[in-house]
Amino acid sequence: MLRIFTDFDGPIMDVSERYYQVYQYCLEAAREPGQAVTQLPKREFWRLKRAQVPERQIGGISGLHDDQARRFALLRREMVHNRAYLKYDCPVTHAVEALQRIQHLTEHLAVVTMRRQYALGFALSQYALEHFFPPQVRYCLPDQYVKSHDVIEKTRLVGEALAELSPVSETWMVGDTEADIEAAKAHNLPMIAVLSGIRDRDRLAAYNPDFIVDNLQAAVTIIAEQTSSASKS
Ligand SMILES: [Mg+2]
Repeated sequence: MLRIFTDFDGPIMDVSERYYQVYQYCLEAAREPGQAVTQLPKREFWRLKRAQVPERQIGGISGLHDDQARRFALLRREMVHNRAYLKYDCPVTHAVEALQRIQHLTEHLAVVTMRRQYALGFALSQYALEHFFPPQVRYCLPDQYVKSHDVIEKTRLVGEALAELSPVSETWMVGDTEADIEAAKAHNLPMIAVLSGIRDRDRLAAYNPDFIVDNLQAAVTIIAEQTSSASKS
């Protein structure tokens, strides 16, 4: 029996527009009146995010002075999870078809995400995705929760899911960041990193996932191949 743990933002949800909107807001808020700044085009902004360029540096590249860039980074951290911006998220192209394919492959699908409960619920209901993830397979952060390091939180959530859900013979994990890869490794799970999220190939390769593919569709294809070849051998 097969189970798939998927991360939410990256494999399923595209958060690039939300991050870009927040970037524009914070850039505007951090500059002095009359100060000329360079608003990066979305494509360039997202390329920097995927290369894991620190927020302060993105502020600097956009023309903010050092202390402004520091404030910009702090404000950004505060705003990016603000409820008002969640509406900018949309499903990754073909992610819904990929979820349907997973349903044909296994009934054991769970989501493991750093989203807060309200933010996960919001996206699931906005795009009618609730039926893929009934409440008992939603592993996320409580609404009022001070998060520590992503790797630690993700590893803990995966551990909880493994302990609570019915045992299966094989569990795969899909995600788009180093936190997903490290969490999978900590629990000895095969891991597929997808390029449809907030890290580029170089960043992902540095953490040595088992596979790096374009998106959740491609990840499902690999899981289907690997599990059918394993059952034949
Ligand atoms: Mg993610």
